[in-house]
This record gives sequence, structure tokens and C-alpha cells, in this order.
Amino acid sequence: MKAELIAVGTEILTGQIVNTNAQFLSEKFAEIGIDVFFHTAVGDNTRRLLSVLDIACKRSDLVVLCGGLGPTEDDLTKQTLAMFLGKELVFDQAALDKLDRFFASRKGRVRTPNNERQAQLVAGSTALHNPAGLAVGGLIEQGGVTYVVLPGPPSELKAMFTESLQPLLLHSNQKLYSRVLRFFGVGESQLVTILADLIENQTDPTLAPYAKIGEVTLRLSTKAEDEESANKKLDRLEREILAREHLARCLYGYGEDNSLSKVVARKLEAIGTSFAIVENMTAGLLQADLTLGLQECQLFKGGQVVSDMEISAEKAEELAHFICKDVGADLGLALLGRVKSESQVDNTMASYLIAFCLNGRVSITEVEVGGYTAQHMRQIACLHALDGMRNILLNHENLL
Ligand code: ATP
Ligand code: MG
Repeated sequence: MKAELIAVGTEILTGQIVNTNAQFLSEKFAEIGIDVFFHTAVGDNTRRLLSVLDIACKRSDLVVLCGGLGPTEDDLTKQTLAMFLGKELVFDQAALDKLDRFFASRKGRVRTPNNERQAQLVAGSTALHNPAGLAVGGLIEQGGVTYVVLPGPPSELKAMFTESLQPLLLHSNQKLYSRVLRFFGVGESQLVTILADLIENQTDPTLAPYAKIGEVTLRLSTKAEDEESANKKLDRLEREILAREHLARCLYGYGEDNSLSKVVARKLEAIGTSFAIVENMTAGLLQADLTLGLQECQLFKGGQVVSDMEISAEKAEELAHFICKDVGADLGLALLGRVKSESQVDNTMASYLIAFCLNGRVSITEVEVGGYTAQHMRQIACLHALDGMRNILLNHENLL
């Protein structure tokens, strides 16, 4: 299905607001396998909106109008769509009742005839209930094209999409199930190259990569009747993804609200490993990050933030060993960086030594980190240290 999103609002054209609704909807449509081919923005103007509709109905199967459902004169989306389709506007009883309840519960606020416009629909539409506001949305099919009307305020648009529109776009007995895979150690472009055929031929499940600072996530989504059949499809695709190149090693966890520091914190807690950290050039970010995800605070025995120093592998190993012994921790980590090349135009490059001391055994790795800002560099250096820690803990766990 080919979809087109039309944002109605002069504020978008004048740059006063950013069209975040288009971003939200594009992401959501991709998840359910609907291709969005056009984003259009048009001002609050009947003639221009009519001309945009005229173009959209010829090239798209699903035309989604966002914004302009409010009570004021400049809100003309439904009126214009009705005119375009040669239909009347009618009242939706449920939306009228909601208006009644709203004004009854707010003493002193007077309901004007304008407010009632929010309860109107293009005749023949299926009403889309608004869980976060008063304006009712709608869906109507004509001439093989489905037209949808959604409110402009993002909180209302999101709620209406999730609760009212998405269930209509899916088959009545289907629901959308998603799984987010989180990777460290593979860049977005590399991941997309490794998975090029899967991404190109995706239908169900769909997959969408997102780049974050230093890491990439991959969202797998599928339409299914229940969780069990969804999981079967998602498991199959996940296995296929993880069989490719080094991706299995890079996968550190699952879930939208997860992070490498949380995963490491949970691992530390699961095996009861206490730890201590020395770091420079990160201003203590590693300790801050890792302890934030920790529920058992006593596992963090202590740490140091040291100023710039001459670093060497011996020094890093010595510090990892020293901090461990000094505070009586099972695992000591030294993260020591130095700037290699500084540039205003290109990435600044730094090299970081990451030394671990676990139960007296010392190991060390070196990584190069490039970043446009100091904060980026710090974050990426910390991710490398956390990933090293994750691997050490996995090996350690296997030996236990
Ligand atoms: P209202 O009843 O508030 O007038 P509406 O459905 O008529 O709602 P608009 O008038 O188009 O919607 O927009 C209301 C507000 O919602 C805007 O001032 C803006 O803050 C926000 N908004 C509208 N469209 C978008 C968009 N595409 N992206 C982000 N924010 C938006
Ligand atoms: Mg408005």
C-alpha cells in the first residue's frame, strides 16, 4: 500500500514548528509494512489543500491528513476533505457526548458553537476516537483511496494512531508485535550492508535500523494473531540475522529502553561481582553510567577520576590492579585515554586503553575513538569499556 502524509498547518511552512507527526507516522507505517512515498505540507488554505488532495488521490492508496481539526476558523481540514469528496459534514454522537461531559466538568468554561466543529466527521467516515483530546478523527474510502484525518497536536495524534487507527489498518484479528535488537561493535552502514537483502525484501516481519551514538538498534515487527505466532516469525528472522558475519557477538541485549550499561549492571548483579573503576578523559562518565543501572549499590566499591597523565599499557594494568586491591573489589577497570589528533573540521581522534583485573588476572585492550564532540567521545569510550566488561563477565560466568 502506498501512503502519503499531508501535514496541514501554516506554522509548519513558516518554520515555527517541526513536522514531528510525519516522522512518527512514517516510522509506525513502516512497522506495519505500509510504504510512505510522500510527505506533503500545506498551509491552512482551502484552495491549496484541495490541490494537494487532487495530486495525492492520484498517486497514493492511503492519504493521511494531519492537523486542522480544532475549533477555530483556520481549522479547515475536514471541511475541505468533505468538499473534495462531495460529502456533507455530520456530527459524531460519541464525540458530541464527550464535548458535553467536558464542558459539564469544567465550570466557567462556555461551550461555543465552534467547539462543536470538533465533533464533526465527513459523512460516511468511520470515527477515530481521540483518547487525548476532543477532536474526533475519521477514515473514509472513496474511489479506491482511503482518506484518514488525524489531529495536529502530537499527543493526540499518537494516541489516536495507536488506539484507533492502527487496529483498523491491521486485519481485525491481528496485532503488531515488535522486538528491538541492540548492537555494539557494528556501524549502521555496515549493518545495513550485511542485511541488505533482508531489508530490501522485507514484508512481514519488517526490519528498521536506527543509529544511536556508538550503537545501532534494529526493530523487527510483525503482524500476527497472538504472541506465540509472532515470536515464531521474529525468532526465525532473528536467527537469520545473527548467523551473519560477527553480528551474534555484537548483540548485547533487547528492548527499546535498554542500554549497554544496564545490561552490564544486571550481569554484575547476577553473578555478584563487585567492581571499581579508574578513568580519565571521561570525567567519571563510566562510573556515573554504570552505577545508574545498578540496583545493588554495594557492588560498586569505589572509583577515581584522574587527570590527564602519560598513559601506557603498564600504567593501565597497574591501575586496574591497584584500584581492585585498594578497595577490595572483584573486578577493577582502568579506562585511560589520550588525544591522538585534534581537529576543528574532522573527527578528533583519541586512543583509549581499557585494562581489566578480575580476581588478580589482568588483561588489556586498546581502542581508537573518533568523535565530533568531547561528549560523543566520552560516550563511545564508555561503551567500549562496558562492552569489554560484558565480554569478561560472560567468560567469567562460563568458568564459574
Ligand atoms: P487544535 O485543536 O489544537 O487546533 P488541530 O487538530 O487543529 O488541533 P493544528 O491546529 O494543526 O491541530 O495544530 C495544533 C498544534 O499541534 C500546533 O500548534 C502544533 O503545536 C502541533 N502540531 C500540529 N501539527 C504538527 C506536526 N505536524 N508536527 C508537530 N506538531 C504539530
Ligand atoms: Mg488548530
